[in-house]
Amino acid sequence: MPELPEVETVARDLSGELVGRCFVGAWVGRPGILRFPAADAFTRALPGRGVVGVSRRGKYIFCHLDDGQDLVLHLGMTGHLTIAGRGTEPVRHTHLRAPLDDGRELRFDDTRRFGRVLLGPRDLLEELRQLPVLGVEPLSPEFSRERFDALMRRTTRAVKAALLDQRVVAGLGNIYIDEACHLAGIRPSRRASRLTRRERAALHAAIPAVLSRAIADRGTTFDDYRDLWNARGLHHERLQVYGRGGEPCLRCGAILRRTVVAGRTTVHCPACQR
Ligand SMILES: [Zn+2]
Repeated sequence: MPELPEVETVARDLSGELVGRCFVGAWVGRPGILRFPAADAFTRALPGRGVVGVSRRGKYIFCHLDDGQDLVLHLGMTGHLTIAGRGTEPVRHTHLRAPLDDGRELRFDDTRRFGRVLLGPRDLLEELRQLPVLGVEPLSPEFSRERFDALMRRTTRAVKAALLDQRVVAGLGNIYIDEACHLAGIRPSRRASRLTRRERAALHAAIPAVLSRAIADRGTTFDDYRDLWNARGLHHERLQVYGRGGEPCLRCGAILRRTVVAGRTTVHCPACQR
């Protein structure tokens, strides 16, 4: 499932391709992908709208349109955005096509159907609860030591469960939580409220560190994720623990242990994570 670094990679690439361009059409093949509005309203509203900016919040991509609305895209588990020449054959499970004024089109395909698309003014989408309330952005100045301390101290959940909660910190998922916990030397199953001050500081530093490195590698392709150009992320081979259960820890050589925390497969080093 794409997490912050993968979504950031796609958003940055989209920015380069879409800003200054204008949508000249819209086609929805599977109305279920649209959370808001209904397909007929969507296909009426998008054509003629120019893109003035692209940004990311949590795992959501926002294409800011020239009338103040946002085209909001969430990749779900297997969603994939491409910019394609209009003549090229769409892949199977292409649910949305939005032609651009330069002869290409934005396409959204998704085999598992957890991806979602919204269109509207952001405050309206939030008001309608189509967009969830998201927690602090881990790469923003708002992700301060004080704020992170407060978030961890007030929950008795496991560190992993707390960090998976998008209302606490936005954009993290299974891969980068395991990686950050390993870098910080903390077991993902530890109760967040029981971390020491020093451990909280280590985790607070580890989260942006693992995210920034992964963004520099254009994300991690473990199975489905591909970027806008259908290329794989390069971070896979630098993962320290995720997907490496049963293999030796790259730091200390101990055999990495695979467990389930917060309902998710979790890998940690029994020797260097406490
Ligand atoms: Zn180790």
